Amino acid sequence: MSSDLVEVLVPIPLMEKFSYLPPKNNTSPLKQGARVLIPFGRRTLVGVIWSLTKKEAIDKRKYKHIKEVLDETPLLDASSINLAEWSSRYYHYPLGEIISYFFPPSIRKGKEAKFRESKYLELTSKGSFLQAEELARAPSQQKLITLLKEKKEITLKSALAFGISATTVNGLIEKGFINRFSRELSPYKKLENKRIVSPKKLNPEQKKAVNAINNAQGTNINFLLDGITGSGKTEVYLQAIQEVVNQGKQALILIPEIGLAPQAEERFREYFGDRVMSFHSAKNDREKVDAWLGASKGLVDIIIGTRSSVFLPMKDLGIIIVDEEHDLSFKQMDKFRYSARDMALYRAKIQKVPVVLASATPSLETLKNAAEDKYEVLKLSKRATGASLPTFQAVDLRGQELNEGLSKELLDATHSELSKGNQVLIFLNRRGYAPSMICKVCGWISNCERCDALMTVHKNPTKLQCHHCEAQKPYPNKCQSCGSNDFLTYGFGTERIEEFLHNHFPEATTLRIDSDSTRRKDTLNEYFGEIRKGKPMILLGTQLLAKGHHFPDVTLVGIIDADSGLFSADFRGSERVAQLMTQVSGRAGRDKKPGRVILQSYCPDHPQIEEIVTGSYDRFAKKLLEERKSSKIPPFSFQAKIFAESPKSLVSRDFILNILNRTKVEEKVRRNVRIVGPLPSIMEKKSGVYRWELSIFSESRSGLHKFLDIMQSRLYDPKVSKQVRWSIDVDPLSSI
Ligand code: ADP
Ligand code: ZN
Ligand code: ZN
Repeated sequence: MSSDLVEVLVPIPLMEKFSYLPPKNNTSPLKQGARVLIPFGRRTLVGVIWSLTKKEAIDKRKYKHIKEVLDETPLLDASSINLAEWSSRYYHYPLGEIISYFFPPSIRKGKEAKFRESKYLELTSKGSFLQAEELARAPSQQKLITLLKEKKEITLKSALAFGISATTVNGLIEKGFINRFSRELSPYKKLENKRIVSPKKLNPEQKKAVNAINNAQGTNINFLLDGITGSGKTEVYLQAIQEVVNQGKQALILIPEIGLAPQAEERFREYFGDRVMSFHSAKNDREKVDAWLGASKGLVDIIIGTRSSVFLPMKDLGIIIVDEEHDLSFKQMDKFRYSARDMALYRAKIQKVPVVLASATPSLETLKNAAEDKYEVLKLSKRATGASLPTFQAVDLRGQELNEGLSKELLDATHSELSKGNQVLIFLNRRGYAPSMICKVCGWISNCERCDALMTVHKNPTKLQCHHCEAQKPYPNKCQSCGSNDFLTYGFGTERIEEFLHNHFPEATTLRIDSDSTRRKDTLNEYFGEIRKGKPMILLGTQLLAKGHHFPDVTLVGIIDADSGLFSADFRGSERVAQLMTQVSGRAGRDKKPGRVILQSYCPDHPQIEEIVTGSYDRFAKKLLEERKSSKIPPFSFQAKIFAESPKSLVSRDFILNILNRTKVEEKVRRNVRIVGPLPSIMEKKSGVYRWELSIFSESRSGLHKFLDIMQSRLYDPKVSKQVRWSIDVDPLSSI
């Protein structure tokens, strides 16, 4: 007799799928993508049906039965299943774990995929024949029956509010006069398309871009929308999305930062009314489930979200936009190390929709793909408001007497802009008061015990904190090594500059914007509201301020430390710095008033600083691409890393060496890869563990994957050491 065996994905870090027998006494059909409850060891887990096989004469004793099928209609559609399978192969990560990314937490844990439900009461047919007078002796019951005759149905809550007790309700239910039932309340029921702003009249470049995207409807074309800061990229995709929405389809917009979500959501709502929704990690489970249902049932047209939104099921996807495509936040840096941008490209391919990568500073990977005609380039070369790009001035700090890290030029310029009623943005990508603390007597320094890093001094509240492992210590009263209390706080962080600016410009408001000052939900938004009022003020902040924001009244951007990151050990360092500097500078002079940028540097003749001051990002990126090409590093080869971490440095190293030496790799596979390492990570010790890494380069993607497949099967071998935590990173972006 033939019998079904069901392969189930289980959310555990193993590569296998597990086989089960259908539930006992099962009558309903089992479908791929439906959730099931399964016995797993001594636990019961929620798994997802992956495949069904007909097998002759299986030994039924070897398998357990599925306990329960949770979904009659599968929650995952064919394209989600395809995306999951592809990413599991591409990132060499277990499918069972990847599947979890497709569901909000409660659905992952087995809860029904439903909107919030409300309980209602209605009359039964028996109840409808009942005359209210018959209940004269039970006035409360009489009241409820009268109400229901009048209104047909009421919520249980309103019945209770009318003073009718639960006992009364239950009494009538028991007698069969009334019925209690539940109904889902969709938060998207009454959404309307109310536009507040009218579409802008596009300039010729914008028009060309919108037309190209519109013409790509229903096909998979990858666009690079390469437009300088403030060139009206957002306006372009707002108008392109209009066409998608007109055709009854949905748009998915990926943004890099939660901090950008409220601003983006507002702009889309002004344009598209209420059928816009955002999705990110700060939402609670209820909100996530609502968004998930709204997207999958097609109740909302536009979804704006951070990285994880790339997994959202959409009823009828029409376009994907990846805003600030160069941003590192699209890459998850632990566990499942996916790039949301690259998954978006694949998703667009399987769903046959256009995808738009937008940036003023595209990544080198993207520029290379564009140069090879894999992407169609839509160029916006002018600022949309007619403003010109800011002018640049490098201030040579050598030999200068500084005021808490600020040069006379920058202070004078700040003063002058404030007195004209303008806003000034001061950028320092370092939070806290000072990045280190030293004992003047014995030279003790505030090392973190768990990392190869110094602890940062914080003043508000006062403490020492490591920014790599978040370890905290009280601010020392005396030196732990010599007992003196004569300390030097060395270097500058945003808190320290804030203190100085407060004293130096007492009449102007200084708003410090970094992840410490905006920890409370909504603070960031309140700050942006304050900035938009346009009063003269100083915005002092980290990269939180650099990305995507439109501050029309900022006329001066001061970069306190343009040298940070110039001498990075990571070959991607220069690319990052150039992107960040260009983005920060792009906040200046975006509206009517012209802007300027002052960069403070100790090496103003460093080619990179020169390039930022005199040239354009495009030109700099071209140079970097040539360098990468001649040394055959990404994007001119493909890279993956294998990381190992453990409490002992040599154990991490030997783990990688062992895997490498004991794994048989055929010569024809070996030939296609270049292996570098194992080497200690740039910060070897972090959070108390020692990290080593093996870099693998290949000139062909498939060559890289073939090698990784072999490594992966070895790494997942149950006999492999449990003392070491390891991971595979395909297309790694950082070594930190
Ligand atoms: P980006 O996304 O490239 O940074 P935005 O779309 O935010 O640029 O546009 C920058 C500013 O220019 C915004 O205030 C926007 O309203 C305005 N803008 C965009 N397109 C036009 C246009 N065609 N005409 C006038 N103003 C425009
Ligand atoms: Zn000391
Ligand atoms: Zn630390």
